[in-house]
Amino acid sequence: MIAKAAAQMSTAAEQNVGAALKGISQSIQKVLKQINRSEPPRVVAIGKWKPVELLQEAYEAGHRHFGENYVQEISAKAPQMPEDTQWHFVGHLQSNKVKNLIEDVPNLTVLETVDSEKLANKLDTAIETQGRQPLKVFVQVNTSGEETKFGVEPEKALELARHIHEQCKHLRFAGLMTIGMPDYTSKPENFECLSRCRSEISDALGLDPASLELSMGMSGDYEQAVSMGSTNVRIGSTIFGARDYENKR
Ligand SMILES: *Cc1c(COP(=O)(O)O)cnc(C)c1O
Repeated sequence: MIAKAAAQMSTAAEQNVGAALKGISQSIQKVLKQINRSEPPRVVAIGKWKPVELLQEAYEAGHRHFGENYVQEISAKAPQMPEDTQWHFVGHLQSNKVKNLIEDVPNLTVLETVDSEKLANKLDTAIETQGRQPLKVFVQVNTSGEETKFGVEPEKALELARHIHEQCKHLRFAGLMTIGMPDYTSKPENFECLSRCRSEISDALGLDPASLELSMGMSGDYEQAVSMGSTNVRIGSTIFGARDYENKR
């Protein structure tokens, strides 16, 4: 326990969160220049397994979008962060945790990982019950075909997007999310695949493709993702330092 606290403190001391965020923003600017795009993607700071003090440092540096993977963790951190924190949930969400997530995180801004109609329906009901504004959701697509990854197959993305768009009054279908393959060479294919899914869905549902987000890119591949049209990058270790299993809750 003491060793764990000490390890977290040393991470907090060594990692300069503000400087890391600035560095990321500069790298993104470079990419935008190369591709002649002006609108930068949103940077979501992924804080999983990291102490809330580090998230507060990022907040103090002006950062507002934060993401978490575990309901227990986001529920514990949300009350310790200012009310205008914009929370993203980016982990696999089990149906039986939906109610907790919705109740515990009133400032949940986007749920990035809807991967089944069952989950969409549960969320829809939970939002209605709470009397909240419609919740923005992304459909998670498994673009790499790895069995360990969650998300719908690319061929099924339209069906799920249509279900949310047409049947779930309390959800707002707002984009697609994917986790690229760790192996660098296949990333372009994963990101292209997500982009193709967006075209197919916007055509089929009569939506403006520019109104649908692409959540792709993490510490190791965000520059490439931005060059391929990402509007939402999810960055953890580059901001908060490497995660080690010691810090896992
Ligand atoms: C952990 C995680 C990230 C951030 O990963 P880093 O490589 O540390 O930037 C992004 N997206 C999801 C879904 C994650 O689980």
